[in-house]
Amino acid sequence: MDYVYGPGRNHLFVPGPVNIPEPVIRAMNRNNEDYRSPAIPALTKTLLEDVKKIFKTTTGTPFLIPTTGTGAWESALTNTLSPGDRIVSFLIGQFSLLWIDQQQRLNFNVDVVESEWGQGANLEILAAKLSADSAHAIKAVCIVHNETATGVTNNLATVRKILDHYRHPALLLVDGVSSICALDFRMDEWGVDVALTGSQKALSMPTGMGIVCASPKALEASKTARSVRVFFDWNDYLKFYKMGTFWPYTPSIQLLYGLRAALDLLFEEVFKKCRLAVEAWGLKNCTQKAEWYSDTVTAVVVPPYIDSAEIVRRAWKRYNMSLGLGLNKVAGKVFRIGHLGNLNELQLLGCLAGVEMILKDVGYPVKLGSGVAAASAYLQNTIPLIPSRI
Ligand code: PLP
Repeated sequence: MDYVYGPGRNHLFVPGPVNIPEPVIRAMNRNNEDYRSPAIPALTKTLLEDVKKIFKTTTGTPFLIPTTGTGAWESALTNTLSPGDRIVSFLIGQFSLLWIDQQQRLNFNVDVVESEWGQGANLEILAAKLSADSAHAIKAVCIVHNETATGVTNNLATVRKILDHYRHPALLLVDGVSSICALDFRMDEWGVDVALTGSQKALSMPTGMGIVCASPKALEASKTARSVRVFFDWNDYLKFYKMGTFWPYTPSIQLLYGLRAALDLLFEEVFKKCRLAVEAWGLKNCTQKAEWYSDTVTAVVVPPYIDSAEIVRRAWKRYNMSLGLGLNKVAGKVFRIGHLGNLNELQLLGCLAGVEMILKDVGYPVKLGSGVAAASAYLQNTIPLIPSRI
């Protein structure tokens, strides 16, 4: 029975959903409550205030929506844009592809800027499009900060610089699903108008909460945006924010307590590095240039005679480890190691040891211990003291 775990822990190394910390699990292990009692609005008030810190915003308005990253996308688009609006959107991997598909199905006029998978967004083309758009027909620029399919992180500060350079008023809508809480993210400084994430990624919670944050400019745009929206309408939330009861519909009480615990833990640690191991194995990173390296996911390219899906299957069946599959254009060619969320250095070394054994299993001539040695040499020099043990 595939759904029964083997002995010991399952080693969860997909780039979401990620491991949930014990304090978060315990915080969620509770009965339902009346969300109209004074307790839940009081809790929600602290969440809305503190969640702004993960976006690095003081001026943004957050929405905690019972949905996933995909619903958060829809919330960002339908609240700020009207059918037929021209938007520029970057296609660099499976998640940007899916967001573009949603944009097209919502009837926006999508100007797709495509790069080879493994490359970052082509910002030179963005500059050319903005410079040619003196009539300001482009209403929004949509970009996935961290493309989880290929392990590419885009440079949002540069996107902002380009928009400012051409004094272009387009909204900047950012998918931060696999970046926010794990990578440097600065909503206010980078002039991001809508930023969004999902609870099962770097917040290390169960799936089910989409977290969307809107700038004052985005809120203003929502007053005239004509896209049909009901469940995702920010206005319904804002009405209840004004009344101080906060919820237009029933929130998941357990996720609210989970978010409280996750935020309390979060300000403690951030995690890095398995690229050195990939190099030591003689394999390539799917990410083609160092400037795009993602610190939350590493997509490893396998030699053509190996099917990367077999690596993922074996990891599960033989070593009780969950790795990420290669998606769409890189299916069979790439497997992914997620290193975001509740994870420490020694857990990562365990993962690297497992990957080495699997590589050997599938006929790749890896020297056992080579990646672990490279990563541990790096980690030994860089692991900071745990603040509570200083
Ligand atoms: N955007 C990115 C960058 C993702 O990695 C994912 C999921 O992995 C999504 C969006 C979609 O999120 P969800 O599966 O929660 O709808």
